[in-house]
Amino acid sequence: MHLIIEHFLILDSIHKINIKMNKVKWLSVGLGLLVLSTLFTACNKSASGSIVSTGNISITSVVQSKFLSTVTISTSGSGSNSSITIKSNGLPEHKTPYWGLGNALYEPFPSGHAPNVNTQMTAHNYAMTIPTNPDEATSKEATSLGEIGMALNGVPLFNDREGGNVSLDAMTVTTFDYSGAHPAPSKNYHYHTTGRYTSLDDAKLIGFLRDGFPIYGRKDTTGIYPTLDSYGGHFGPTQDFTSGIYHYHASNVNYLNTGYYILKAGSYYGTKGTFTN
Ligand SMILES: [Zn+2]
Ligand SMILES: [Zn+2]
Repeated sequence: MHLIIEHFLILDSIHKINIKMNKVKWLSVGLGLLVLSTLFTACNKSASGSIVSTGNISITSVVQSKFLSTVTISTSGSGSNSSITIKSNGLPEHKTPYWGLGNALYEPFPSGHAPNVNTQMTAHNYAMTIPTNPDEATSKEATSLGEIGMALNGVPLFNDREGGNVSLDAMTVTTFDYSGAHPAPSKNYHYHTTGRYTSLDDAKLIGFLRDGFPIYGRKDTTGIYPTLDSYGGHFGPTQDFTSGIYHYHASNVNYLNTGYYILKAGSYYGTKGTFTN
């Protein structure tokens, strides 16, 4: 009996030692992480203490992994002058009435909507060239009519303007499909807003603007609607750039009460690259 009790006491003390050792181990892991995160924070701050938001983050791996395989991606140059060229035919992989009746990807318009005068879309030869390490422009340039970026499926992104460089009106919005898209006069299909096949009230990566900065849905990864600067973006972590990057968000304003949310209005934060068609 005495022996058995002693045996248990020994087991018990071994168990306690194990617990103590585990505590020591986790404490040192915790301290290690603290040191690492402090170092990391220090590295991300400039001498003045402000966050270095741009110019030191490469977007190459995210571009290569997140664009659909239907687009062609190539890189050129090296160092801070390197760039990425993304080529697409601009046709969506998803349903829209602009495929035309009878097409396997045809779906009807939202209620009360109808095709615009361009009626259908055709394939194009798009090539968007963006910097590998996007940086803030010293002088900000306004986005203009036409292609201001590219969605992950190769469809061009447009701003909040339409022919004649006027803001989209409610009538024009009634030519949108469920993706906030329609074709322009050269039958070039494009997104003006978030929508069913890109992003709906979420934090999804939508694509990249011509200045190389990514654009996300209305929410941040944390689930909140972020406060944005006058370019429609801010610096912070995203699911693709966990250390933080300057990024745009779709507007959180229900545009003209249409239920659509504009992707991007106003000026680029960075310096725009070329977009040929
Ligand atoms: Zn348009
Ligand atoms: Zn954000």
